Amino acid sequence: MKILLVEDDAALGHAMSTSLNRNGYTVNWVHDGHEADIALHDHIYDAVILDLGLPKIDGFEVLKRMRARKVMAPVIILTARDDLDDRIKGLDLGADDYLTKPFKLPELEARLRAQIRRNNALLGSTIEYGPLVLNMTDKMLTVNGEQMMLSPREFSVLEMLLSRVGRVVSKDAIVEALCRWDEGVGNNAIEVYIHRLRKKLEPLGINVLTIRGLGYLLQKAQS
Ligand code: CA
Repeated sequence: MKILLVEDDAALGHAMSTSLNRNGYTVNWVHDGHEADIALHDHIYDAVILDLGLPKIDGFEVLKRMRARKVMAPVIILTARDDLDDRIKGLDLGADDYLTKPFKLPELEARLRAQIRRNNALLGSTIEYGPLVLNMTDKMLTVNGEQMMLSPREFSVLEMLLSRVGRVVSKDAIVEALCRWDEGVGNNAIEVYIHRLRKKLEPLGINVLTIRGLGYLLQKAQS
């Protein structure tokens, strides 16, 4: 998880960035609005923590510009005082949440988790396995960032295998997944789809093992 932290107060910025780092976030900490604007141009973030009172360009302007560029990462604004007008203005400009200084770090982290969770749910869930990223909302498979074409049936079989990585998937479960497409899918048809997937996945270092009598299992090739 990559966070952009925009805060000109050295002590507060240091405390937030240390604490977020410790909790497994990658933090880019910038100290003024101009640096924030550049960072938001050059990188993709999972969330932004944005102070409003900033040197060079204020937080409202940073927010306005990023939303104008359709950068939709969730933004939590930090307001210096209990200023209702600032909070309303920030939310109107596209902030997702706010915190009033002073605040406790665990509260910041809880709000950050909630925003990231909500955003991921909106973006649609993905499954990653080795070089594969399967987006279940867009029904799209990418391999090292490049889209790989699959037929809808192959996609359904792969989705079934990927959503149960580490477990054997029975032919019956695959039949059920494919019933959306075919009236009565036979075992032979499943073997055809498995065969096609094998040919596509093996060069990527991913094997589809047949577990006799039980079903199929996805496994990374030993390197
Ligand atoms: Ca400030």
